[in-house]
Amino acid sequence: MAGTMLIGYDVEWWGEEDVTRRFLRQVRRMHDELGVPATLFIVGRTLERWVEDFREIASDPLFDLQQHTYSHKLLKTVYIEDGRSVRVVRGAGLDEIRCEVGRTSELLREHLGMECIGLTGPWCYYRGLRDRPDVLEVLWEEGIRFTRTDGRNERDWHPVSMDLQPYWYEPLGFPDMLEIPTHGWHDNTLRQEVLGWDDLDGYFEAVRPYIERAAERDEVFSLCQHDWSSVRDDPEMSATERLITHALERGVRIVTCREYYLERLRSRERRPEHVRMGV
Ligand SMILES: [Zn+2]
Repeated sequence: MAGTMLIGYDVEWWGEEDVTRRFLRQVRRMHDELGVPATLFIVGRTLERWVEDFREIASDPLFDLQQHTYSHKLLKTVYIEDGRSVRVVRGAGLDEIRCEVGRTSELLREHLGMECIGLTGPWCYYRGLRDRPDVLEVLWEEGIRFTRTDGRNERDWHPVSMDLQPYWYEPLGFPDMLEIPTHGWHDNTLRQEVLGWDDLDGYFEAVRPYIERAAERDEVFSLCQHDWSSVRDDPEMSATERLITHALERGVRIVTCREYYLERLRSRERRPEHVRMGV
């Protein structure tokens, strides 16, 4: 086995339709058939709407449930230069972030009996939270131990290179906080703005090189998909299934983000003190 793939779905639909319910049933069926784990990063208000459906999937040991804030508030401002225009979306204030994250962890605890330690930052950002120790401090106090916030390039756009591998926020004073960047494109942006929703082969071919690189160089490939976009024009999630099958054929192991974080923590703790301190 060489290489690791982390599959994280942001579950965030809050429109009228039952998109999230259909996604949860399909994603569970597919992952159960393949015997492959995944992490769901859940928006609090989406959880409130589909509590029973989330309870069902929470009982499945293949799924790791973490959060994506209560109402999809950004942890910092994005300034997107996609080559056609500039788009700015403002980040929330610290008090609001604390409220959004704390409330969602409480919902996961109350409804699903889960202790939340991981979070995907809505929209993701260039350099993750490396320039925001103030935000990291709030997340740490709210129990968050791994983040998925580094998921845009220097133009706050895509793709993100796999040169960027998971890293600790140790230099900022948070030695046990791990950043797990997402690579390539967010599935929704690629399929909506570049390929077209019906181009499932194009999506597979765009993601495949990241799997190859993980296998060839024994690196981590972190995939970001969403509930609504994963089932859009692909109700059976056949493109995702193809990617997972390909990863397995290439000998890439697939673990949840939570398991990956705990692995990294354990392997670091086993290292002798003088190595850890860099002396
Ligand atoms: Zn999102």
